[in-house]
Amino acid sequence: MFMKFLLTVAVVVLIWFGFRFAQRLAMQRQAPREPADQAAKPKPRFTPDADGESVRDLVKCPICNTWRAPNLGTCGRKECPH
Ligand SMILES: [Zn+2]
Repeated sequence: MFMKFLLTVAVVVLIWFGFRFAQRLAMQRQAPREPADQAAKPKPRFTPDADGESVRDLVKCPICNTWRAPNLGTCGRKECPH
């Protein structure tokens, strides 16, 4: 009876370690692929122009509740202060 219990525990431990081993194998297989993809296809990055044309402070309109660049002018409503 006790041997049966030991055997059951041994089988469970074996399955557990086998699962961990398979998981580590799968992670090792995935890990080298990710940096290669990133190197092949670099993510687009926002690079602001030095003259400040692409970077502007937005002004909030109290009437229409939107943020707009001041030089864009009115948002369309006649009460708009811009
Ligand atoms: Zn407005």
